[in-house]
Amino acid sequence: MAEKTGKGGARGKEAEKTKPKMAEKVVEGLEGLEGISEAELIARIKEFLRKKYYKKLLNASSKETAVVVKYGDLDKFSPELGDMLRIEPDRFLSVASKAIETIDLPNPVKMRVSHFPDMTHIRDLRAKHLGKFICIEGIVRRASEIRPEIMETVWECPECGERITQLRKGSFVSRPFECGNCGNRRGFKQTAKNMIDARWITLEEPFELVEGERPSQLNLVLAEDLTSPDHRRMTEPGSRLKASGILREIPKGKTYDVKLDFFMDTNHIEPTEVGWERLVLTKKDEEEILKMSKDPNIYRKLTASLAPSLYGMNEIKESIILQLFSGVPRTMRDKTTFRGEIHLLLIGDPASGKTQLMKLVPQIVPRSKYVSGKGTTTAGLTASVIKDEQFMGGWVLEAGAMVLANKGLLSVDEFEKMDPNDQVAMHEALESGTVSIAKASIVATLPAKTSVLAGGNPKFSRFDDYQSISKQITIADTLLSRFDLKFILRDVPNAEQDRKVVDHILKTREGNYEPAIPKIEPDFIKKYVSYAKLNCKPILTKESGRVLRNFYLRTRKKAEAEGAPIPITLRQFEALMRLSEASAKIQLSPEVRMEDAKRAIRLMQYSLRQLGMTESGEIDIDKSEGLISSSERGKIRIVMEIIAELSKTKKQIARGEIEEEARKQGIEKDNVDEILDKLKTDGTLFEPSPGYLERV
Ligand SMILES: [Zn+2]
Repeated sequence: MAEKTGKGGARGKEAEKTKPKMAEKVVEGLEGLEGISEAELIARIKEFLRKKYYKKLLNASSKETAVVVKYGDLDKFSPELGDMLRIEPDRFLSVASKAIETIDLPNPVKMRVSHFPDMTHIRDLRAKHLGKFICIEGIVRRASEIRPEIMETVWECPECGERITQLRKGSFVSRPFECGNCGNRRGFKQTAKNMIDARWITLEEPFELVEGERPSQLNLVLAEDLTSPDHRRMTEPGSRLKASGILREIPKGKTYDVKLDFFMDTNHIEPTEVGWERLVLTKKDEEEILKMSKDPNIYRKLTASLAPSLYGMNEIKESIILQLFSGVPRTMRDKTTFRGEIHLLLIGDPASGKTQLMKLVPQIVPRSKYVSGKGTTTAGLTASVIKDEQFMGGWVLEAGAMVLANKGLLSVDEFEKMDPNDQVAMHEALESGTVSIAKASIVATLPAKTSVLAGGNPKFSRFDDYQSISKQITIADTLLSRFDLKFILRDVPNAEQDRKVVDHILKTREGNYEPAIPKIEPDFIKKYVSYAKLNCKPILTKESGRVLRNFYLRTRKKAEAEGAPIPITLRQFEALMRLSEASAKIQLSPEVRMEDAKRAIRLMQYSLRQLGMTESGEIDIDKSEGLISSSERGKIRIVMEIIAELSKTKKQIARGEIEEEARKQGIEKDNVDEILDKLKTDGTLFEPSPGYLERV
């Protein structure tokens, strides 16, 4: 800072020596540049360009693009010029283009300025920023087509012949108010208009800045070389950008949304990193992550750290942890791609904790969001083409939540209530990570590599005990199959379970209840995931591949033969691979180990069983038939197997131990108690002492 003023003073004196002539315009109100003639300014900028950017200028001119000057270079060369760009960008850029004109170049070149150091949040834009050079960051929400527009008109003063250029402001160009040369205010004649290609985009504040409220937006106009195919890709809806330019006011007189009364006359754009890649990890973080990854209890610790105030739901939480780490995306030689994103579906009774969980998860994922399937915006979940004559003119492509959360996670509650248009597009979004749209004159494919945590309600808003669960899911099979795992959350009255939940809630409120304190802080989980995503791409070993394959083939065979409640397809096999890859990533393992494959299988079994499929793929018989259903039979068999396993090491087995093991395999405690009582009555087991069981 001290250096800046020092230099400024020196230049001020220098300027005094060369007093400008009467007719020349002088710079006023800019420290260090007061009294400097325009000719001298041109000379200075020319000197700067010749010294630092001559090659780039020549190159830009031959390619008919713009020359991109780093702000730091300009500011270092002359802090006064740096200030001038900041405070009087219009004047600076006009002088700069005059300076470029004096350099002998094959084609005219426009100057663009990158790496502007100060960022302004869109929500903080005020009148004081008008006419100033600013830099903002956001996600492209809407983008118009590229169309020719009048950018400026040239007028002639009838009194003195001065040519006056009127820049377009907003969507129209006005006639000059006054001749800058003679002061005349009447009779101007338009002599020319310059047409250029332009695109309008709406930039929205990034998710991480927005908590609950509606994100602020700003419209930007991109013209000339900023509409090139490269720039076009960079500015498609869903892209994340840093944009700098001049903040202008949209002339009043027409009615506009009050939120949109500014726009940016864009000078430069650059894509910015998104999501996980953006987190900065210190050396200490990395050490901590490496240490943690070696902890054999890491899976349990991570699971216990997710929404610890919500009781139970361990398998769901474990699956969500795997979802955060995700599988490894792969492209085969024939260009077939396999996604890495893991999608989960929770279907639950009201008050089953589903929504709470869904609202919590986005908080530990960068660039993620909680939305309702009903959609709060016109673009819905995927994308839409809307007509916007008022501001942007013509058809506008608007990104929906899946696109805006690209590379992040989207929690979609009330998934079954989504718009029919979204239903169709959602198939592609979930499987391929893209959203394609072709409507009116707009044809585009937008990125949507978004992990989805969807929540749905049963058919009659609450599960009916007397109908098979799969019949109470209203989401189409084709869409259902895109989810790697599906879970059922029931809110069934159960005295003991209820007591545990209530106690847990009460203790959670006390503040120092151990199970309610996350073992690993959410911020650290974020860093952990980011590190694993960037540094670990585990590959499947033959051994674990075979385990997954056998499980899949066995499940599919049974499902095929007996008409499963939900179809078992190759998608489930891919899901198993993704889940085991995610499991390996947690320990930063370069290989998918046997234990990873087993974890994936265990969770898949739990999920299938909840949907009415028993371990081997048998189908649930309608309970209303009053017989022991096949799933009941399956459960009895599982409990028997558990008892057999535990009997290997001891004679008497605690009920709690059996319950615990059974719970891991998806059988609720109540159910286990029922089964144990049944086995006691039919003489398979006896109770030698209270709470202990033994085989006869
Ligand atoms: Zn005049």
